[in-house]
Amino acid sequence: MHDTFQEIIQFIRKTYKKPSEFIALHEPVFAGNEKKYLEECIDSTFVSSVGKFVDQFEIEMAKYTGAAKAVVCVNGTNAIHLALKLVRVEPGMEVITQPLTFVATANAITYCGANPVFIDVDKETLGLSPDALIRFLETHSEQKNDGCFNKNTSKKIAACLPMHTFGHPCRIDEIAEICKKFNIELVEDAAESMGSFFRNKHTGITGKIGIISFNGNKIITSGGGGMLLFNDEELAQKAKHLSTQAKVPHAWEFIHDDIGYNYRMPNINAALGLAQLEQIDRFVEIKRALANRYKEFFRNTKIKFINEPKNAKSNFWLNAIQFDNIGERDKFLEYSNKNKVMTRPAWRLMNNLPMFKNCQTDDLNNAKVLSETVVNIPSSVVL
Ligand SMILES: *Cc1c(COP(=O)(O)O)cnc(C)c1O
Repeated sequence: MHDTFQEIIQFIRKTYKKPSEFIALHEPVFAGNEKKYLEECIDSTFVSSVGKFVDQFEIEMAKYTGAAKAVVCVNGTNAIHLALKLVRVEPGMEVITQPLTFVATANAITYCGANPVFIDVDKETLGLSPDALIRFLETHSEQKNDGCFNKNTSKKIAACLPMHTFGHPCRIDEIAEICKKFNIELVEDAAESMGSFFRNKHTGITGKIGIISFNGNKIITSGGGGMLLFNDEELAQKAKHLSTQAKVPHAWEFIHDDIGYNYRMPNINAALGLAQLEQIDRFVEIKRALANRYKEFFRNTKIKFINEPKNAKSNFWLNAIQFDNIGERDKFLEYSNKNKVMTRPAWRLMNNLPMFKNCQTDDLNNAKVLSETVVNIPSSVVL
């Protein structure tokens, strides 16, 4: 295997044209109007929560994704929190999600006072498995007047929160059908899948609400930031209201009609985000070409390259490869990082973290294998 490891590192170094320097997993690229918009923003003095870039960023995001409305947020994590609030996830309720995800997905559920229930992922999509979902619901849930209830815990299963892992769309249309049948609200964690489509539909707009992250390591960044995507304009209006301290518009008075949040994205972040959004098509194209090169390379090795799922057009946010076992994986992580090429294992499963160890789980066979064998390799946009 050692020879293969060496070949992989050489291939990555050749691809990035960096013979010896450190190669990061994912770095932002600023090649458009970033400086111009930031300067405009500063010159206007509107650097905070009001300004034209906030409105423009929302309009352009809605246009790009096909959402009826988009509402910006400070980050992806609080966008999930707000989305769950909007579909009435309340203390003591349950939210179904996948154990193979970034911790923010599960954290946001607990911000609502709700409990995550972890259901297995698909081997091919790395996202929540509709097969596992329906199996769980048919065995463990019952319908009552006010929704779907977990027979084991007597708690209401208020929402389902699948995630599009590393940018690869999960089987969201099947998940949506199941959620509809069982009266469960669907919220999509599309934090990683800006620019990814499933059956020609952008990720995040099949569910009642979808969220996107613009953190510095995502495909486009606003420094920090998030967005909620809606098909329902009235719900979007409500999101805007709650994210801006539930302030009722008035020329001079402070009137607030609900417990709101300060989840507003500053105009200066929206300026950066808008400039990045203008380049999304090019970024996706470059990342897909990079993924193709990786795919060709790994075809000649014993290591599996994780390709985009069926019916999906992935942004290949983070390219991923899969080893036969945890031992080989660890050797590769050791070797690559020692050689200054950053690689990272897939997340530890949420139910293995101390704060979620008592949460209900179903069979997690696929998630377990993926968590122990998948590695992310450098995926920055190369110009
Ligand atoms: C990045 C990410 C988030 C959170 O986004 P932030 O903007 O960093 O708060 C949520 N879920 C997933 C799956 C992510 O990868």
